[in-house]
Amino acid sequence: MKALVAVLGGDGIGPDVVAQAVQVLEATAQLGGHHFELAPALFGGAAIDVHGDGLPPATLDLCRRADAVLLGAIGGPKWSAPDAKVRPETALLALRRELGVFANLRPVAVHPALRDASPIRPEVIDGVDFVFVRELTGGIYFGEKRRTATDATDVCTYSVAEIERVTRVAGQLARARRKRVTSIDKSNVLETSRLWRTVAGRVIAAEFPDVALEHMLVDAAAMHLIRRPRDFDVLLTENMFGDILTDEASMLAGSLGVLPSASLGEGRRGLYEPIHGSAPDIAGRGIANPIGTILSAALLLRHSLGLEREALAIETAVGRVLDAGARTADIAAPGAKTVGTGEMGAAIVAALRHASS
Ligand code: NAD
Repeated sequence: MKALVAVLGGDGIGPDVVAQAVQVLEATAQLGGHHFELAPALFGGAAIDVHGDGLPPATLDLCRRADAVLLGAIGGPKWSAPDAKVRPETALLALRRELGVFANLRPVAVHPALRDASPIRPEVIDGVDFVFVRELTGGIYFGEKRRTATDATDVCTYSVAEIERVTRVAGQLARARRKRVTSIDKSNVLETSRLWRTVAGRVIAAEFPDVALEHMLVDAAAMHLIRRPRDFDVLLTENMFGDILTDEASMLAGSLGVLPSASLGEGRRGLYEPIHGSAPDIAGRGIANPIGTILSAALLLRHSLGLEREALAIETAVGRVLDAGARTADIAAPGAKTVGTGEMGAAIVAALRHASS
């Protein structure tokens, strides 16, 4: 098949981890006889440096034309001054909104080879396999912001339609899994959460009668994710709660560096990125873990290009490489031998080629 993929390396470790995912996509294309045009563009701080704009028109135009967008990460201290006029984070929010990708899927599974990489006890995390569906284009991140000399305000708004559409994504996903949705809110305090609870409950009951729904307060969810993570299947949540809880959940898998995400809208086009940021503390050292980005490329093949077999092949190759003992520094035991970003990527490409030979 033919596909146009916009490739936005971004800032910090972003370009390094994306380069590895690009090699995996190139190998996938070669092995499967596909033609992927992998078109790079400036985004985030790197685009601010050149164009004074984190999301230049040419980048947005490419993303709009593309079948899918692969993104590394954006941001860093260089662009983070409190009085900065343009911020990389604004460009990311704008891109998500422009592409209409309102549902952010973040699967969390504990690979058996990494059970000792997590700070949580192995018997608690064995068999963990859940997916977050985080609302991505509404809520407090997108509400009106005001600042005076003496106070500041961020407005959180959700419409019925916004809650309905993301709940449907969670319902459909649960149907293909263990048929359980946990909807997370703060309905004891927030009006938006009371609406969230009502609408999510109505949509699941009316359209997904085969799916079991439980409601959970966000503070309790933060605790249960660590106490009994195996019990979760699909977790549905609004934007900010999802942002925070998915970083917490990443510790079950051992590192932020291994978790992928897919951001989807009404059509097939999606935005795919690891859940981590630009990691300025390790940028330029060649030690970042590329697995989260490589697994994001697998999600891209699955959700935007419909290439399930190819997606599975990448996921299997990652598993084989971890089983064989390759570890970047973030998932290595103290004192153990580690590989760099490029070596990890090359090992995954080699495993992919080996499996198809
Ligand atoms: P971060 O995710 O960049 O880093 C948190 C910690 O995890 C750091 O110690 C880092 O070294 C480590 N880490 C992250 N990814 C890793 C990888 N692939 N391999 C090994 N270790 C990894 O979060 P932060 O430090 O809070 O934020 C840094 C910058 O990234 C900020 O400017 C922030 O705004 C931005 N950010 C961007 C995104 C995005 O692009 N979607 C998401 C989160 C943060």
